[in-house]
Amino acid sequence: MTDIIMKDYTLGIDIGGTHTAMAVVDTEGNILCRATIKTTDFATFPKFVDGAAKALKKSVKEAGVDFRNVRSIGIGAPCVNVDTGMVEGAVDLPWPSPIPLKDDFSEKFGLPVGVANDANAAALGEMFYGECAHTDDFIMITLGTGVGSAIVTDGNLLQGRKGFAGELGHTFSRRHHDRLCSCGRYGCLETYCSARGVVKTALDFLDTPRHSSLKQIDPAKLTAKDVYMAAEAGDEVALATLRLTGEVLGEACADFAAFSSPETIVLFGGVANAFPYFIDSMKEAFERNLLWIYKDSIRIVKSGLPESDAALLGAAAVGRSAFLRQRKENRQI
Ligand SMILES: [Zn+2]
Repeated sequence: MTDIIMKDYTLGIDIGGTHTAMAVVDTEGNILCRATIKTTDFATFPKFVDGAAKALKKSVKEAGVDFRNVRSIGIGAPCVNVDTGMVEGAVDLPWPSPIPLKDDFSEKFGLPVGVANDANAAALGEMFYGECAHTDDFIMITLGTGVGSAIVTDGNLLQGRKGFAGELGHTFSRRHHDRLCSCGRYGCLETYCSARGVVKTALDFLDTPRHSSLKQIDPAKLTAKDVYMAAEAGDEVALATLRLTGEVLGEACADFAAFSSPETIVLFGGVANAFPYFIDSMKEAFERNLLWIYKDSIRIVKSGLPESDAALLGAAAVGRSAFLRQRKENRQI
């Protein structure tokens, strides 16, 4: 029997510590309608699911889609155990763990639900719709509040036990160092290349007699965006900060290359906006530290997808694969 070809849709959800982005996505990866709710507005997780359902139903209506044609839901969230569908120990989310992410959404909507870690979801978005749409081997590094990463080899997302593979942000870039990481250890890549790391580097540089416009900003309020904007205006301290950020990232990526032999390294997230100011030092440190067999063969690019779209499209891809898997299982019964 041949399939009746009909339009179907997936709901993509990207749960972040502050905001949750949602979208109605068609099979070609077009976002038809989007919505955002504030994650922190909901005192409990069940209340959050209710709030998300309300916003999603409104979006489906606005997109002009019949809800009966919505086939699946895909969710990207921090610290998801992909085996159980539970969020475990996500310090950035406002509810206690474990959170029954997959079960509660599945029960609420009566649809197949796919879940993924947020960095992995973004990588899937990249793999299906972004810079790496034709690449089977790449590493995606998210430079945001923290440093997340996802590794794709032979066209497959490396999941590892519980789906926790690819925590490259918590590999040491400086051993025996005094920079405390959010994970409680010292000297992780994240302590240099996250937004917080960039600010720390800038503050270290500002603690010298050098002139800088950044000295006019209260150090407690300084952000990575301030550093980026000062670099755009030619501020030497801001430029030196981003050069060091690139150097540390380049050294780390040279090690990562030896792990999975990527064709491309894709950078993503807020700090990646400063790409023009750190890419030269990053590439120089990368090539200088690469094992010779990889030299001059690995691209480093900034993701072309808007940040929220990569995560949403990746979540939708996870949802769609959950739907296809269930359909296949139903046929086999
Ligand atoms: Zn760490």
